[in-house]
Amino acid sequence: MQVPASFDYVVAASVDDAIAKLAADEDARVIAGGHSLLPMMKLRLASPGTLIDLSALAADLRYVRADGDAIRIGALATHRDVLESPLLAQRARVLVEAERVIADPLVRNMGTVGGSVAHADSAEDLAAALLSLDATVGIRGPNGAREVPLTEFYLGPYTTVLEQGELITEIRIPRGAARGAYLKVERRAGDWAAAAVGVSFDLDSGALSNVRIGLCAVGSTSLRAPKAEALLEGKTPDLSVLKQAGETAASESEPIGDGRGSEAYKRNLVRILLPRAIQGALSAGSSNGSTIHAN
Ligand SMILES: Cc1cc2nc3c(=O)[nH]c(=O)nc-3n(C[C@H](O)[C@H](O)[C@H](O)COP(=O)(O)OP(=O)(O)OC[C@H]3O[C@@H](n4cnc5c(N)ncnc54)[C@H](O)[C@@H]3O)c2cc1C
Repeated sequence: MQVPASFDYVVAASVDDAIAKLAADEDARVIAGGHSLLPMMKLRLASPGTLIDLSALAADLRYVRADGDAIRIGALATHRDVLESPLLAQRARVLVEAERVIADPLVRNMGTVGGSVAHADSAEDLAAALLSLDATVGIRGPNGAREVPLTEFYLGPYTTVLEQGELITEIRIPRGAARGAYLKVERRAGDWAAAAVGVSFDLDSGALSNVRIGLCAVGSTSLRAPKAEALLEGKTPDLSVLKQAGETAASESEPIGDGRGSEAYKRNLVRILLPRAIQGALSAGSSNGSTIHAN
């Protein structure tokens, strides 16, 4: 089935208007770029009674800006905005690298940061990259505003802490990182990940510090790898340490076998990708946003 069920369509005039409309109708969903929601509607995996279009709110919600040490990314910033942001290239390299390997220019021109995070597919590259930056999610709803760490935002596949009437308004990165890289293995160009690893860290007299690791497509949600992070913290990144960290991150991942590979294969990808991502970030300040094609 490639035709969605019928639905009503309204355009939100302001953030408050979007919240009011969403809160008033249990059967309504907001639509931003539509690149996840529309495919689900066509497959009848989602059948909202009303779509509330956020696209007229770009003046309020489309931005990438520094705020002291922090970086704020509006929910309607597109993948392309992230990819082309000089600020993020300098202070949150992992995001730019992840964007290089998300889908294709058509998707990146339309898809938004808020939509990617809200969609809660564990194969979303951006969420894994954001996890490696200690990102928090800015939320507004009928009861006011709140901020939730991304580590607490996902409850399971396609399920988040968002409540009826709540909107993501912004993603906040507390301080960025000096180094970052994102490595993804996909079956063909533009595909979703079989597995991917994002890493951000600083270097302190040759030792790794503030190490954060985000894992993509190897769990029911995007995951951090806290044991591997702890193992790397304060260490000189020699090969044996990196290999150990890869083993540890692989043991922390929770993949399931599917069309993109077996459980063992995906775990092995994490084992290999983490050391390579760290080496890439160290050697050039960047791993150049690489994908590795599985076939
Ligand atoms: C062909 C194709 C290939 C793709 N490949 C990849 C890939 O390789 N890697 C990858 O990571 N992604 C990939 N994607 C997915 C894409 O990057 C994102 O999922 C998409 O951009 C989501 O953003 P959107 O603005 O289109 O969200 P929408 O489709 O508009 O919305 C998605 C969901 O989020 C909700 N939502 C949207 N905005 C908000 C908000 N501000 N607050 C609360 N809820 C909100 C909607 O109600 C809906 O439930 C691909 C998509 C396509 C179509």
